[in-house]
Amino acid sequence: MLKFFVNKLFRYLPVVLLLNSVIPPVRSSSALAAWELKTNGVLELRTKSNANLNAYFQKANQIYGDRFWVDFHGELKNPRKIKGNGAIKEIRLGKPNKGKTRLVIEFKKETYLTPLKWRMVGLDQNRWRIKLFTPKSSFKKIGEGLVEKRVGNIKQNQNSIYRNKSVNNFSQLPNVRQNRFSVVIDPGHGGPDPGAIGIGGIRETDVVLEVSKIVKQLLTEKGVKVKLTRKNEIDLDLPPRVSFANNIDADIFVSIHANASRGKRRDINGLETFYFRGWRGRLLAKRIQRQILRVSPGSPDRGVKQGRFYVIKNTRMPAVLVEIGFLTGRLDARRLEKTTHRKRLAYAIAKGILEYLSKVG
Ligand code: ZN
Repeated sequence: MLKFFVNKLFRYLPVVLLLNSVIPPVRSSSALAAWELKTNGVLELRTKSNANLNAYFQKANQIYGDRFWVDFHGELKNPRKIKGNGAIKEIRLGKPNKGKTRLVIEFKKETYLTPLKWRMVGLDQNRWRIKLFTPKSSFKKIGEGLVEKRVGNIKQNQNSIYRNKSVNNFSQLPNVRQNRFSVVIDPGHGGPDPGAIGIGGIRETDVVLEVSKIVKQLLTEKGVKVKLTRKNEIDLDLPPRVSFANNIDADIFVSIHANASRGKRRDINGLETFYFRGWRGRLLAKRIQRQILRVSPGSPDRGVKQGRFYVIKNTRMPAVLVEIGFLTGRLDARRLEKTTHRKRLAYAIAKGILEYLSKVG
């Protein structure tokens, strides 16, 4: 599962609800309405209105070639495979699990792709385009297809203001020198201290532990030595967290927390990152803050601040404390309860750390 996650480049493409939308949501069938892979290597997708797409890339392994896939809500009725040509081995339309549709484009093993340059572009409310490769002359158009009976009114979209013209960068984690750095990740609270309790009883200790473990996995894959101050629900006071990091002489220390507002106000959301001293601490905080904001659209930027928290005050290396959202906030809590969002946050934190290490280390 870990490797699977690390190797894919993911992006969440939010689609804004249009007030004048006339297309009723059809819950029972796929949000993917039609697809076309053109001779110039461009994949075009048409979705139902207000669909969310999740796009992924995974490098070739022993079993599969390089794969690009997009997941859609709604279940596909008839899974199918289409044989490819040129760079494409096969295109598959499937249902990876109940209520989902997956369009997979599998490339031949020797194909050279540049997923770092890929951009999924929202053309309008329900059309998407991504250039996957530049075909050699041998490439013939593979296909196009209506996924289900077409719903929707194309004309309507011409009137839609292009407010969803979002350009999303597929990004990758930066490289750093292998086996050079050691990082301590500190999941806040634990054991008898659950930390903040949010909407629906969501607990800070659970959220931050999962995020921290994924951060560790991601950094480890990049050749960074990572230690967690705790791996499970144990009672861990603040001084041992600090002495642990100081004793192993870690390069950086990152404590991960989630927030709660006084009075549990549901309208308070946002992300913030604290440091205590030094330009290095501040730079690390800035890098992490910038990345976590990118995966939390709409959640306020509460900024990079100086804070006097025990764990960042008493550690000897550059140290930050990151608050990944308000468990008491309507927007943040709804996201933080999902593993997909926790993974995005972990990816963002790992990216901020790696950016810092590649610059300063
Ligand atoms: Zn906390």
